[in-house]
Amino acid sequence: MIMVSPVTDETKPSQSRHDGEPDGPAPRRPIADRPTPTRHVADRSAADRPLDDPVPTRIVLAMQGVTKAYPNGRMALRDVDLMVPEGDFVFLVGPSGAGKSTLIKLLIRDELPTKGLVLLDGRDLGRLKRRDVPKVRRRIGVVFQDFKLLPNKTVRDNVGFALEVTGTPRRVIVPAVDRVLRVVGLTGQADQLPGQLSGGEQQRTAIARALVHNPRLFIADEPTGNLDPVISWEIIQLLLRINELGVTVLMATHNAEVVTAVRKRVVALENGRIVRDEHGAAYHRED
Ligand code: ADP
Repeated sequence: MIMVSPVTDETKPSQSRHDGEPDGPAPRRPIADRPTPTRHVADRSAADRPLDDPVPTRIVLAMQGVTKAYPNGRMALRDVDLMVPEGDFVFLVGPSGAGKSTLIKLLIRDELPTKGLVLLDGRDLGRLKRRDVPKVRRRIGVVFQDFKLLPNKTVRDNVGFALEVTGTPRRVIVPAVDRVLRVVGLTGQADQLPGQLSGGEQQRTAIARALVHNPRLFIADEPTGNLDPVISWEIIQLLLRINELGVTVLMATHNAEVVTAVRKRVVALENGRIVRDEHGAAYHRED
C-alpha cells in the first residue's frame, strides 16, 4: 500500500535554498551528486520488506476528481484521479484530443481545473497565491517536442538562464550548469548555439535546462516527436537515467514502440478519462 504523506506547513523541514524558497519537502541534492539507487522508491513495496514495516512513499503528484471544461464548453478532462509516487516513471498515452496536453497544462498551472484538486507535494496548485506560482513552477521541469531554446544563447547560457532569472548568483549557476550538462552528455557542446546542434542535442539542452532547478517532477511532452528513432531511443535512455537518479518522470507520448519496450507505468487517456493505469505495461492494452 502506498502511504500518502502530504507536506503541510507543520511537517515541512526548514531549509535555505539559494533562491530563498521557503517552502517544499526535504532538501534535495543536485541530481548529478546523487548515488544511483539500486531500486526506485516507488518499487519499495516489494516482498523483502517486513509487512509491519511499511516505508511511507511520498506522493509527488495527486489529481483528485479533476474535470476541465474550456470556456467554449469542450470537456478536456473528466473526473480524473491520478497518484504519482516519488520515483515513478509514467507514460501518459492516448489519441490526439484525449486530454494529455490539458493534463500537463494543469500541472504547470497554465490552466486551472474546473473541478477537483491538483496537488504537487501536497500543495493545491489551484489555490496558490499568485506570488507563489513561479516558485512552485520551478519544482517542475518541462520539455516539449519543439525544444523552445533561445537561439542566440549558447547551450551553457540557455541552461544557466533558467537560474539567472531567479536571481541565483553566478558562483552557484556555473557549477550547477556544468553538473547538468555532464548528466545529459553535452559538456563538449557547452559553447555552441542551438542552431549548431542536432535535434537530439537540442533536446538534451532542453532537458538540462529543465533539470537545473532539481525539479520534483520532470514532465516530457512528446519529447521525441521531432526526432528520428535512433535519437529518440537515446533521449528515452537519458530520461530513464534521470529517473534512476531519483527524479519522478511523467512523459506524454505517441511512441508506441518505446512505451512497449520500456515496460513502465502506462496511464491511458481517452476522451478526457483515464481508461487504463497499469504498471509494466505496453502502449496498447494486451488483454
Ligand atoms: P491531447 O493533448 O491528448 O491531444 P488536448 O488536451 O490538447 O488533447 O485536448 C483535449 C480536448 O480539449 C480536445 O477536444 C481539444 O480540442 C480541447 N481543447 C484543448 N485546448 C483547448 C482550448 N484552449 N480551448 C478549447 N478547447 C480546447
